[in-house]
Amino acid sequence: MKIAFIGLGNMGGGMAANLVKAGHEVCAFDLSEDALAAARDNGCETFTSARDAVDGAKAVVSMLPNGAIVKAVYTGDVIGHAPQGAVFLDCSTIDVATAKEVTEAAETAGYNMVDAPVSGGIAAANGGTLTFMVGGTKDAFDRAELILQAMGKAVIHAGDAGAGQTAKICNNMLLAVHMIGTCEAMKMAERLGLDPRTFYAISSQSSGYNWSLNEYTPMPGVGKQSPADNDYQGGFATALMLKDLRLAMEAADSSDSAVPLSSRAAALYEDFDGAGNSGLDFSAIIKTY
Ligand code: NAD
Repeated sequence: MKIAFIGLGNMGGGMAANLVKAGHEVCAFDLSEDALAAARDNGCETFTSARDAVDGAKAVVSMLPNGAIVKAVYTGDVIGHAPQGAVFLDCSTIDVATAKEVTEAAETAGYNMVDAPVSGGIAAANGGTLTFMVGGTKDAFDRAELILQAMGKAVIHAGDAGAGQTAKICNNMLLAVHMIGTCEAMKMAERLGLDPRTFYAISSQSSGYNWSLNEYTPMPGVGKQSPADNDYQGGFATALMLKDLRLAMEAADSSDSAVPLSSRAAALYEDFDGAGNSGLDFSAIIKTY
């Protein structure tokens, strides 16, 4: 299938390459020359504008930094320029309101569209093992599913337009809370004289079991291999966690949801990011304890 791909950064570069590997003809566009050169090396055909890339495409996939850019790209260069009947898949993490607004504009103009944000980082994007949480109509989901399967290990229909973004930010809000809770418990156990490895052995098999502790242990030398064992390099950057928490706080306000623990987690990540730690994995917040 002829697929346009817009946004070939850390995530999009690998995702576009996986579409090529699956046999699709990928027409790629990014503002960065370096990103375009890498895409060519991976078998994509590159273009000098989004409008040119979407010309003749049956599907458009985007992986862009934020909602304002997604809206500008779709309303400026995709809607009305891609062939009638094409399906659009925005995989960026953006606010729920913009996701709904762009989908409505696309559907009004006769296209199908899904919001399909991902769980999994750069390694999963390169390896084709992302999890996609998808918002959109059943028809749009059915058309998007095969394309997403070429880039991921799981594709889940979350509900109507915006539901993918809702699932994504609620998931990452929970992740921030259990990461911080895990850091606090591990550090307190240590200060009370318990070897962190002993605490891990007990809690990872007790009711304290959670993903941050069991799979992504924030303390070096404890539990499975994680960014903590690599000086908090790689993994999921604090800046990206903060981006998702800001989106979550916006959504909490607009839905009048009570999120006392999560808003505290967001404030702690604001401070940690502001102290010059944007590039460190988000589990490095344990250093503040
Ligand atoms: P990135 O900054 O590496 O890539 C974004 C790309 O978009 C860049 O190459 C940039 O040049 C391009 N771009 C910006 N404006 C453009 C425009 N108008 N037209 C065309 N291209 C444009 O970011 P990333 O890490 O690849 O993240 C992309 C999205 O994926 C974000 O929404 C992010 O929140 C989400 N995400 C990232 C990760 C991660 O681990 N990096 C994990 C999950 C979700």
